[in-house]
Amino acid sequence: MVKHLSQRSLPHLTMGSEKTTENKVKSQKRGFSTESVHGHEYYDVGKGLFKVPIYMTAIWEQFDKVTGEPRKTDRNVDLKYSREENLTVNALEKAMCKLEQAEDTLAFNSGMAAISTIYLNTLTSGETVLITKESYGLTQQLAKDLNKFGVKTILAGPETNDLVNSIDKHVKMVIIETITNPLLKVVDIDKIAKRCLEVGVRLVVDNTFATPLLLKPLKHGAWISMNSLTKYIGGHNDLIGGSIASDSKTILQLWEWRKKIGNIMNPFEAFLVLRGLPTLKIRFMQQSKTAKELAEYLHNHKGIEEVFYPGLKDSPYFKTANRLFNEKVYGGVLSFKIKGGKDKALNFLKKVNIIKASPSLGGVESLATYPVLSASRGMDQEVREQLGITENLIRLSVGLEDVEDLKEDIDSSL
Ligand code: PLP
Repeated sequence: MVKHLSQRSLPHLTMGSEKTTENKVKSQKRGFSTESVHGHEYYDVGKGLFKVPIYMTAIWEQFDKVTGEPRKTDRNVDLKYSREENLTVNALEKAMCKLEQAEDTLAFNSGMAAISTIYLNTLTSGETVLITKESYGLTQQLAKDLNKFGVKTILAGPETNDLVNSIDKHVKMVIIETITNPLLKVVDIDKIAKRCLEVGVRLVVDNTFATPLLLKPLKHGAWISMNSLTKYIGGHNDLIGGSIASDSKTILQLWEWRKKIGNIMNPFEAFLVLRGLPTLKIRFMQQSKTAKELAEYLHNHKGIEEVFYPGLKDSPYFKTANRLFNEKVYGGVLSFKIKGGKDKALNFLKKVNIIKASPSLGGVESLATYPVLSASRGMDQEVREQLGITENLIRLSVGLEDVEDLKEDIDSSL
């Protein structure tokens, strides 16, 4: 029989003894960038192929011709149908697993697919989910939509102490964001995780703005680390995806939901994420550097009322960010309030040229968004106003353009 792939080459496949403990130990010691490049562990020795192919197939031959046994992936589920398992997706999951330092990881066809799967898996009628007030609008909206099935929602925070004080045994699950959207607050995950553990509450961290480069939520006591892969991890504004990292038992439960809902990432998008992943660190470092320079520039700009960026020395979140984040960088997103109110802000969005007025973040193009109409749209107006998400607020996700060009674009649009 011709073996197309070496036994060692198949990501998440238990197919023999070549996948040694030694290999696993070695890979655990590797740095973030090395894992970003090689963490998928795909290696077809027979073909000399170490790039992950796009397995555009719905189906797999169910029984191994040699053993007669069902083909299994590493998580010991059958490899037979791509709504359940797909080897391109598996390779991405393996790489994400390394970056998150998790036992297992699942990839979804959007960040929201990941969040909805967490909700469906975890919450039943009568149970309560506590969500940080300053979080992605649809995360809040979806939780509220579940009220019709008897799930209760509490919004708390966004400051650490308020969150800690709101967590008690009546709460089933807490959702926080490492760096909040759109005012870039950094909460103390250690304090929140400690409180969750004390009272037996499950902590889910949406790590989209920080990525596992800055912080690995599971290492801080979170139950689940979730990412919108659409953002920094994909990194090129050309795909939609999401991931969940957790312990193996939880992942198997979520896997059952993913199978039933049918929201697994498709292989082409998994390939695109795998293509973006190797440059995650250098992109993120550069985007953070440019964002810091722009934040400092805007801090002293006469057309700007206030700048929000955790990397500014006088930001109330600088100390926490500095303590928690692995690399001493603070991300590529900043927000600012334009003097002159709503009209000035909308005018800015119309005038920008290199920067595009578009609602995402983390990609190579710089994007300016109007939170009142995008990420924070799903929030109640009262909550928005209480948080200071005003009509003159702009969120800027910094891409890979030259900083001087971005300054010039901002300046001439103000
Ligand atoms: N979480 C955060 C923090 C986000 O900003 C977003 C999208 O903007 C999501 C989750 C949802 O991700 P997706 O758009 O990939 O569904």
